[in-house]
This record gives sequence, structure tokens and C-alpha cells, in this order.
Amino acid sequence: MAGPIEADVLVIGAGQAGLSAAYHLRRRGFVPAGEVIEGELVGEPAARDTTGAAGPGTYLVLDAETGAGGAWRHRWRSLRMATVNNIYDLPGMTQPDVDPCEPSATVLPRYFAQYEDELDLPVLRPVRVRRARRADDDPTGRLLVESDAGTFAARALINATGTWTKPFWPRYPGQETFRGRQLHVAQYVAAEEFTGQQVVVVGGGISAVQLLEEISHVASTTWVTRREPVWRDEDFDPDAGRQAVALVEERVRQGLAPRSVVSVTGLIWRPELRAAAARGVLDRHPMFTRIEPDGVRMADGTLRRADAILWATGFRAALDHLAPLRLRGHGGGITMDGTQVAGEPRVHLVGYGPSSSTVGANRAGRDAVHALTEHLRG
Ligand code: FAD
Repeated sequence: MAGPIEADVLVIGAGQAGLSAAYHLRRRGFVPAGEVIEGELVGEPAARDTTGAAGPGTYLVLDAETGAGGAWRHRWRSLRMATVNNIYDLPGMTQPDVDPCEPSATVLPRYFAQYEDELDLPVLRPVRVRRARRADDDPTGRLLVESDAGTFAARALINATGTWTKPFWPRYPGQETFRGRQLHVAQYVAAEEFTGQQVVVVGGGISAVQLLEEISHVASTTWVTRREPVWRDEDFDPDAGRQAVALVEERVRQGLAPRSVVSVTGLIWRPELRAAAARGVLDRHPMFTRIEPDGVRMADGTLRRADAILWATGFRAALDHLAPLRLRGHGGGITMDGTQVAGEPRVHLVGYGPSSSTVGANRAGRDAVHALTEHLRG
């Protein structure tokens, strides 16, 4: 039986964070571990180089999607280039001029595909990683990565699997009795699906308020959140952004579960949201106490009838495939030292915690590659 496919560094995920890592690997002289044509490894993978002649080493990128774009492939159609926050360029290639009305789900996958092509990045897809584990009996200290396209062996991993595949649904009493539809924002397609309905939107983040605004034009909406949302007037406050990132950074340094950076920066009063507020759409209610067959029982005891409950309750880091590595500690999160998992210099997490933004993903890719180049050399 053929052994695992070898690469010095395996990048898992080809969203902004994974592509940034691939860019920096290439830039530092890492070479593809084999020839990749249209997402497939063709011919024999490159033999393992123990002489150092191949530069610092070899790499491959494994991505579960059927095409380029990471999670942007799945964002709802109404999330247009004019309504996304601020998408930083991938390293080394500026975004082409775009029509601000075009959906981000069209523009960004197109840009990412062009990027992968021009840099000739070795992205294998669709390849979903099922589990990564230590090859304990292997004196070279490799990590084994099992995927639906076979097993890979790597000296180091850069995990860049984002959050989109792990939507977070809180549990509330009576949830299973609800006769209407419950969906998470990850499943949202368009406001028209709710025409004429009564919709309860749960969550205090940007997705919640943007979707409330658009659904409120065709349906009657109720907004509930656990905490009073924090609103900001200024368009973008770099200081608030930096403080938010520092706070999340400190949490992961202590091994706590990361919080979303946006939950720390607050919501920005955009013109369409001010207009929605003037229509009463952003009158926020405290969280309901239970879900009943026909609606939700509000904190004041009244029943709010509902045809649909939209959970805009965020995402968690998609790291289940790393469970055999036992990276989580008692704090509920993974203790991080920069992008490196503390105590495990072979594993870096990019796009995780403080780097879960496009600018953060860019920097994390660069930092992880810098640290791994040193580690592999050592
Ligand atoms: P992703 O883009 O999610 O890429 C992860 C990749 O890993 C995917 O291709 C996925 O298929 C793959 N993958 C996952 N699991 C596996 C596996 N087991 N095996 C193989 N491959 C796997 N940030 C901003 O800076 N500006 C914005 O305007 C902005 N808007 C946002 C809007 C929404 C609705 C959401 C949810 C987030 C937004 N963000 C925004 C945050 C944004 O998600 C990140 O900034 C960035 O796009 C995430 O990149 P990533 O590479 O970490 O993850």
C-alpha cells in the first residue's frame, strides 16, 4: 500500500488565511510537494528532500471547497461589496476594481481564483481533512493528516479552516417544539423567503442587524439579544479595532475560548441602519425565555408569534479535525503563543481568535510561515 503523501508544511484551508500562508511559504522558497493541476496532485509526489537542496522545504494546501474563495463562496447574495466591512487585499495582489453592487460571493471567489492561478499555488480540492494526529512511533516527529483524498504526512501544519462550517446555535427550552422554521445565518439565502411572515432575529452582531434591516422590508421582525448592543458613531475607529484585537489576543494567550473581534468593537451606525432604527426595526428586546410551538415567550411573559427564528449567533472555530492532537486546555480554548499552539511548535492556527479578520489573516499567515521556517531549520 502506498504510504502517505509527504510535505514539510501542510496548509489546511484556502480562505484568506490559508492563501496568505501559501503566499509566504512560496515567497520564502518553499516549493510545491508535487505537481498540482486543477486541484489534483498528478504524477508522483516529490521525493522527500533531506539535503536541503529544495530550499526550506515543500508544501501543499488542502481545501474542502470545490473552487476558490473560502467561505465567501457561501455568503448570502445580498452581502454586496458595498455592504461588507473592509476586505483587505490578499498579500501581493490588489483586488481589481469592482461594482459595489456585485455580491461578495461572486467577486471574492473570482479574485481568489485569479490569485491561486497567478501564483500557481498547489491547492488540492475538494479535500476535506477528517483528522490530524501525531505519528507517535515516527522518530521524525511527523503529523499525519487523514483526508477524504488519502493520508498526508507533514512536519508542520498551518490550520486555516475558518469558522463558517461551524455555526453556533444556542439551546433554549422548547426549541424542538417550534412549528415554524429555524435557521442559522449560514443558511440564509434572501429576505424574500420570509415575505409576509413574522421573523424573530436572535443575536447582537453585524449579521443580525444587516439581516434585520433587509428582512424588515418584507416581513414583520422582532430583535432579541442577550446583551444590550454597543453602537458606535464613527465609521471605523482604528484604536477600538486594535484594542479589540488585543483583548482577544490576551484571551487566547490564557487558553480561553476566543471571542469574536466584532463583539468587542461594537456595531457601526451605517445610514441604512439609522433608517431602520427610525422605522423601529432596531428596537432590541431582551432574550426570550423559551420557545413554544407558535412563537417565543418574551422576558415580559408575552408570547411573540413567529413563523421563523433566525439565529444570527455567530460561529466557532472549525477545529474538530484537530481533536486527536488534544490541543484544548482547561480554559476551554487552545493556549496560543502568537499563531503557534503553545507547547506544539509544529501547529499554527491562522484566522483564529485575534486573526479572524481579513487583515488579521494576512498577518497571521506571514507570522506562521516566519516561525515555521525557523522551526524547520532548527
Ligand atoms: P474561510 O474563508 O472560512 O476559509 C476556510 C477554508 O477552510 C474554507 O475554504 C473551508 O472550506 C476550508 N476548510 C474548513 N474545514 C476544512 C477541513 N476540515 N479540511 C479542509 N478544508 C477545510 N472579515 C473582514 O475582514 N471583513 C469583512 O467584511 C468580513 N465580513 C464577514 C461577513 C460574514 C457574514 C462573516 C461570517 C465573516 C466576515 N468576516 C469579515 C470575517 C471573515 O470570515 C474573515 O475575515 C476571513 O474571510 C476568514 O478567512 P479564513 O481564511 O480564516 O476562513
